Amino acid sequence: MNIAKVIVDVQAKAINQTFDYLIPDKFQDILTEGMRVIVPFGPRKITGFVVGKKTTSDYSQLKKIIDVLDISPVLTGELLELGRWVADETVTLYITAYQAMLPQVLKAQYKKELIRNTAEELIPELEHLFAGRDVISYEEFVHSNISYAKLQRAIQESFISINYLVKSKITKKLVTIIEPSQETYQLEESLIDMSQNAKKQRQLLSYFIEKPEPIEQSKLFQITNTNRTVLRALLDKQLLKENKKEIYRNPYQDTNFERTYPLQLTEQQSIALNPIKEKISHEEHDVFLVHGITGSGKTEIYLQAIQEVISKGKEAIVLVPEISLTPQMVKRFKGRFGSDVAVMHSALSNGEKYDEWRKIQAKEVKVVVGARSAIFAPFENIGIIIIDEEHETTYKQEDQPRYHARDVAIRRGQYHNCPVILGSATPTLESYARAKKDVYQLVTLDKRTNNQEMPAVEIVDMREELHAGNRSMFSSTLKENMEATIGRGEQIVLLLNRRGYSTFVMCRDCGHVKECPHCDIALTYHKKSNQLKCHYCSYEEPMPIVCPECNSDLIRYFGTGTQRIEESLNQLMPHARVIRMDVDTTRRKGSHEKLLHQFSNKEADILLGTQMIAKGLDFANVTLVGVLTADSMLHLPDFRSSEKTFQLLTQVSGRAGRHELPGKVIVQSYTPEHYSIQLASNYDYNQFFMQEMQIRKSFRYPPYVYLSLITVSHPNHVKVVQITQRIVQLLLKVVQEDTTVLGPTPSPITRVKDRYRYQCMIKYKKEPKLRTYIQKIMDQFSDEVRKENLLITVDMQPYHLM
Ligand code: ADP
Ligand code: ZN
Ligand code: ZN
Repeated sequence: MNIAKVIVDVQAKAINQTFDYLIPDKFQDILTEGMRVIVPFGPRKITGFVVGKKTTSDYSQLKKIIDVLDISPVLTGELLELGRWVADETVTLYITAYQAMLPQVLKAQYKKELIRNTAEELIPELEHLFAGRDVISYEEFVHSNISYAKLQRAIQESFISINYLVKSKITKKLVTIIEPSQETYQLEESLIDMSQNAKKQRQLLSYFIEKPEPIEQSKLFQITNTNRTVLRALLDKQLLKENKKEIYRNPYQDTNFERTYPLQLTEQQSIALNPIKEKISHEEHDVFLVHGITGSGKTEIYLQAIQEVISKGKEAIVLVPEISLTPQMVKRFKGRFGSDVAVMHSALSNGEKYDEWRKIQAKEVKVVVGARSAIFAPFENIGIIIIDEEHETTYKQEDQPRYHARDVAIRRGQYHNCPVILGSATPTLESYARAKKDVYQLVTLDKRTNNQEMPAVEIVDMREELHAGNRSMFSSTLKENMEATIGRGEQIVLLLNRRGYSTFVMCRDCGHVKECPHCDIALTYHKKSNQLKCHYCSYEEPMPIVCPECNSDLIRYFGTGTQRIEESLNQLMPHARVIRMDVDTTRRKGSHEKLLHQFSNKEADILLGTQMIAKGLDFANVTLVGVLTADSMLHLPDFRSSEKTFQLLTQVSGRAGRHELPGKVIVQSYTPEHYSIQLASNYDYNQFFMQEMQIRKSFRYPPYVYLSLITVSHPNHVKVVQITQRIVQLLLKVVQEDTTVLGPTPSPITRVKDRYRYQCMIKYKKEPKLRTYIQKIMDQFSDEVRKENLLITVDMQPYHLM
């Protein structure tokens, strides 16, 4: 087995294959699949993943592996297979999938060092190499002629660890631990023998007689009021010994997590949990959709299911949306499972992320709570996978590989024979439809644990406000309610439902929104050409001067920023203290937490923000929630816009009156009769589901069909159109009869960075070979991609149709 099969880091199509390399003798014993290596590729040296070993090759003149980057594998056998699957499913390169599964630190080549973790004798060669030092550079080892197998063994025994040097900042922290090296009675005897003048030494020794446990050196000095000189003397007399221990940077160190214990479940919670527990105990895979209103105790169900899994000696993965990975959420998991929990989210530094990943790899934790990519946690004995707020689109990666964490979760659940739990107050239509067809098990929780009603929702018709002469963003109802709330010393959450480039056109008199006559989707205003365009079928028309419905000249395109709202809020209610939370005020690390902390400290009356304030927040003192423009998302050029509006309104309503104080929700709208606004205000998910399914059916959108999106971009407009046209024609030759291939259609943002973008959309019910077709087409264009600056991207499950 002296030949390694390697997936190399070359970003070109048709290179989704393994290359054979000879394994030099020195790596023979240590090299296993899942390790990264450096190999020659043409004139270059590149990294690659070893995916297997063999004894013969079809090629003669094999080149040799230059170096091994990992002494222990970074990908398990399961993850290697999973990466191939992800790549195939999303039509991407294997190497891209593997890199997406690992923390950033491991995607590049970093300088390494070796750290001695023990005072115990190492094997003579290593002892000689360290020569009394705690840390040496990895190069020293490489040049030492000591065998890799010996180093690997020392690492496996935890005598030595490897540290990757990330931007000159060490990723691992070391602390010195002091402990007695003799029995307590021996220490006592030594104390008696010790000179009375050695006061400090006696003090230090007495400490360990009283408390014969390991302690951090710095703490020891603090408690005993001693120093290194004093300690040195006792170390030399071999009464005490010291060890270096690696500690992890803990991003949540400052927060004290109060221990929580399992609650007595409500009847609904028990009914939901029991079948899940059954699957856990029988080690069977199944997918559960937990449809539970906000406050119905879903999180408690997750916690108790995880408890069950841990007690079986297994591990749990919990995914939450990035923006709801707030300290409040983390607290609930750390509170129950303490240091068994690793947390992974994008606000962590690369070093911190790497620490958390290593805790998982080293099996030092049992639970990982994290955003999307935590689905690739290198656990080997998974007992449950939970996806909270399963409807969130952040679970879909919008970059290669364009995978959906839900699909990966189910794949891993099948491999590990464990249940997958999808939880939401407003499940996606896709998931709910599957549950209705018994593909998933549906469990419903329609009562809050405290039996409180959901807050009452009042819809304000903004057209009437306008007719009454109020041209501001705040209706008189909202203003009065805000004044009253502040008067009672309670707090307000104000949501500006805005999406960056949501420039749909609406009549402010009658609420009429211009839609495409063929697609039932709002037309998008293109400022430059003053045209309205449909991004699904290319239909366009000029921007109207008056409303085609009511002839009013107050027909405008929409788009308002939080900053402007804040200014008018300050004018309207000068005494109210406002915290604004949007991408601008939360860009800096930790600012998100800081603003929330200020608000929960009651340093402000109003929290004003975009979508990011709608999720997971739980403030006892918030009794009023205002939605400034419920419509703005409704008319995005996206067939999911009604669903997203319903989800957002339901979610934000759940923010009011979570505790003893009753809550109220005011929703301002120019189209108050729209079913997603009406049904959200009644918390009627089932009716919404049925109505929206009808629409999806008649316009042929998911979940009735699958979508795939191919986007072509190039600086030359004509070329983009031509190539997209060719792709459409190639596809039409091979697809099934009931499959629709649409295009070439300009992308909603047709030119980005001087490149034109066109797309081809495929709508299909069943196309088992579609990925192969697309791959073939991509291969066909690979020359042009390489030489002519052409870019073709594939999204097998598009969410952003931009
Ligand atoms: P969800 O995740 O569905 O929004 P949570 O799990 O956050 O609901 O529960 C809402 C509140 O009810 C929390 O404060 C939680 O501590 C509490 N809770 C959950 N289950 C119970 C229970 N069985 N008994 C009492 N309180 C509970
Ligand atoms: Zn009108
Ligand atoms: Zn259209």
